[in-house]
Amino acid sequence: MSDPAGAVVAALFGAAIGSFLNVCIHRLPLGQSIVRPRSACPSCRAELSWSDNVPLVSYLLLRGRCRRCGAPISARYPIVEALTAALFAACWWQFGFSPLFLSRIVLGCALIVLFAIDLEHYLLPNAITLPGTVVGFAFSFLGPPGWMSSLLGILVGGGILFTIAELYYRVRHEEGLGMGDVKMLAMIGAFLGWKLAIVTLMLASVAGAVIGLLLIATRRGDMKYALPFGTFLALGAGMAAVAGPGLLDWYLGLY
Ligand SMILES: [Zn+2]
Repeated sequence: MSDPAGAVVAALFGAAIGSFLNVCIHRLPLGQSIVRPRSACPSCRAELSWSDNVPLVSYLLLRGRCRRCGAPISARYPIVEALTAALFAACWWQFGFSPLFLSRIVLGCALIVLFAIDLEHYLLPNAITLPGTVVGFAFSFLGPPGWMSSLLGILVGGGILFTIAELYYRVRHEEGLGMGDVKMLAMIGAFLGWKLAIVTLMLASVAGAVIGLLLIATRRGDMKYALPFGTFLALGAGMAAVAGPGLLDWYLGLY
């Protein structure tokens, strides 16, 4: 499927979609419409002209500052645009135009938005996780992991985290995991199937534990420092989608 010209077109398209993901990341936690009004500088409220709204290019030309008031533009904007461009190019390179390409870019976009919103707001909007679960299940009829594994992925992914959240609450009498995390892993299970949902949870837990211990070791947090678990689930799911099948083969081959 390796097709350089196609991958470049996919990257350009991805950068434009990334620009839209930035709108979602900024507005969903505030409960604002993602369609209207036009994008504006959060500092001086000046509406952005189309030429100030070109993915990646505008940020570089403006050197990361608003043309009118000079307020710094968050580095999140070009990072999300570059990441989405890379996602589209890589999926095109791997799958060509196919149901799996569409499924993977939709999942990737959902993960990018959830990663960024959870990191900043400790929030995983239902507006992403619930439709995401439905779309992931629908895609499973057209390709991997198949509808049975997808359905099990929703039940197992959501079920495990729901059980952990319940147990934690009973024992500690405080909320350790939110229902947003439960719905997010159900969504990941819908796209990737139950096996990779478990791989995702394991990778996310390891990453969360490592970062948590680093924060404690550097005294930037204590045992109760809240980590945005959805951010780690997004990382885990990304790794599981790319390396998960190989990891599973290796792990199961140990027995
Ligand atoms: Zn401004």
